[in-house]
Amino acid sequence: MPDDFTVTLLGTGTSTGVPVIGCDCEVCRSDDPRDTRTRCACYIDTGDVTLLIDTGPDFRAQMLREDLTRVDAVLYTHHHFDHIAGLDDLRPFFFWNRRPMPCFGHPATVRALTDKYDYVFGSNPYPGAADLSLCSVEDTFYVPTRQPPLPRGTDPAELPRRDAQVAVDPILLYHGSMPVYGYRVGGFAYLTDVNRIPDTSLDRLAGLDTLVLDALRPSPHPTHFSFDQAVEVARAIGARQTYFIHMTHNVLHAEQEDRLPGDIHLGYDGLKIHVPVP
Ligand SMILES: [Zn+2]
Ligand SMILES: [Zn+2]
Repeated sequence: MPDDFTVTLLGTGTSTGVPVIGCDCEVCRSDDPRDTRTRCACYIDTGDVTLLIDTGPDFRAQMLREDLTRVDAVLYTHHHFDHIAGLDDLRPFFFWNRRPMPCFGHPATVRALTDKYDYVFGSNPYPGAADLSLCSVEDTFYVPTRQPPLPRGTDPAELPRRDAQVAVDPILLYHGSMPVYGYRVGGFAYLTDVNRIPDTSLDRLAGLDTLVLDALRPSPHPTHFSFDQAVEVARAIGARQTYFIHMTHNVLHAEQEDRLPGDIHLGYDGLKIHVPVP
């Protein structure tokens, strides 16, 4: 298990992003930077191992914006466009380190990625495609560091330990009828694109410090939690702090933040969350 670690919300918007193309509503025209929402993704830096959750269509811009240069593994939540469209932008992570990069997901997600990206995952990959190894997981798994051998003259104390690994729990959720995964690392869990959490999954979320949770908008939706539902779920899970993500242009940050209980906040792009050891 890692010590304290840092979580960066790379994107916090729904599938269209906010502003929405062609929309001139109050949120889409807002000057508040927290009302600009790129597609959802998350970066977890445990010090020794770095984990990326999803590679949506804004992935490249998000990594450049945050000046992030290292990824040890990708955890895929599900195969919708807004969570996978940036997969090809993982290629630069192979320019200086040829080791394969593991990508984890639910068996159905792994099947869908294999079908959609045949030139990456097929039997005859395109030369230059990212060397991604898809791993179908159903229980706790361990992600090792992908750190390359020490460059000559480097002080080993400046690099993460090469034998480090971090334990990750996949959390089964439902996005309408589709099984998707949330992920738990230590006292942190990230649950996006969900409108139902089975009891067995709730059991695996006990004792959380920080929860990041799908909350689409105030009004109901068939495949995402509404704000009221998300508050109820946050209460049931009982984390010390909860951040909402995957929000539409129906959510004006300053206005909605004020209406939430004190331990629940709206996430925003670029927010860094410190997660202490439980
Ligand atoms: Zn989504
Ligand atoms: Zn989705």
